[in-house]
Amino acid sequence: MRSQYAEPMSSDLTIPAELLPRDGRFGSGPSKVRDAQVQAVVDAQPHILGTSHRQMPVRSLVGDVRRMVAELYSLPDGYEVILGNGGSTSFWDAAAFSLVESKAQHCTFGEFGSKFAQVTASAPHLEESEVREASAGSVALPEARDGVDVYAWPHNETSTGAMAPVRRPQGIQEALTVVDGTSAAGGLFLDPRETDVYYFAPQKSFGADGGIWFALVSHAAIDRIARVTSSGRYIPATLNLQTAVDNSRKDQTYNTPALAPLVMMRAQLEWMLDGGGMDFVTSRTDESSRRIYEWAAQSPRVQAFVTETEYRSRVVATIDVDESIDASAITSALRAQGVVDIDPYRKLGRNQIRVGLFPAVDPDDVTALTRSIDYVMENLAT
Ligand SMILES: *Cc1c(COP(=O)(O)O)cnc(C)c1O
Repeated sequence: MRSQYAEPMSSDLTIPAELLPRDGRFGSGPSKVRDAQVQAVVDAQPHILGTSHRQMPVRSLVGDVRRMVAELYSLPDGYEVILGNGGSTSFWDAAAFSLVESKAQHCTFGEFGSKFAQVTASAPHLEESEVREASAGSVALPEARDGVDVYAWPHNETSTGAMAPVRRPQGIQEALTVVDGTSAAGGLFLDPRETDVYYFAPQKSFGADGGIWFALVSHAAIDRIARVTSSGRYIPATLNLQTAVDNSRKDQTYNTPALAPLVMMRAQLEWMLDGGGMDFVTSRTDESSRRIYEWAAQSPRVQAFVTETEYRSRVVATIDVDESIDASAITSALRAQGVVDIDPYRKLGRNQIRVGLFPAVDPDDVTALTRSIDYVMENLAT
């Protein structure tokens, strides 16, 4: 498989084959797809692929995914799993129309949290949002404020590799907590009771293609959606979450969904649940992250970007590289040998590598990656 994707050598450096990871995909989303997920797509021919999403085979696929997500999270009574087309970015627009009553508070500490904040800030029907900002590599936490009816923050800030605690702030009364779990879901522990809306997309831990969003929603969130969407506010139909709730309850989507990602997602959920569910996936990401941060602590040429250990992400590790070495020389030497997508988030602009540690990634491959990087650094440095 590897040589098929390898790009022309950009350096003369050849990493010994025995050091290389068996699977070289370490992207932070899209991320490694397991062979069994591809096989599941093949097996979906002809019973699911090319058939109507209004009929039973596809509806039972959607139903399986909803049920398995609920099982993975041991979803409490009153919570349900809803979905819609468009991915997490579309969910931000839907939330601005269908969830925020008048004012949102956002915690921003990287690109993704900021993008959602920009959405509510530019919505003409909402009051000015409150933004609690922390610098990249740290986290900002929500705090109760008068007039705020949605508290929003990312569980895992994929652009910086910082993860934030998911706890309902004290004293927020009827306000909702709306947490971006896009890169955290399926890889980090969550107590769903701390959130009213926990939304994510399938291209990170679930190893599927993007383009859909899922959300775990509380009873209070369902009530809020009903109230806001019947308030007379203009809401584009694709961003109307009541429509999403109604369709999801019938195991459907408002408009035609892509079927292959749903098939891939179901296969990943089966793998996660068969392995032991939340304990299994978090033990994988705990182990992978332990290995990479230990390496970063021991190696003189690299160090973890996130300094506070409790905020160091277990699904996306950001590792600063010593200024004497160009991190992009490392990533291109690795890419030439099929180890891909460890480039830093472009806008962060650091001499850094960023490694996706989603459950599908084998911890032994993480160790192999660190050895390969050591090899490259030693041979670039001389
Ligand atoms: C990837 C990501 C998104 C964007 O997801 P899309 O499905 O591409 O819209 C949003 N938030 C976080 C935290 C992400 O990691």
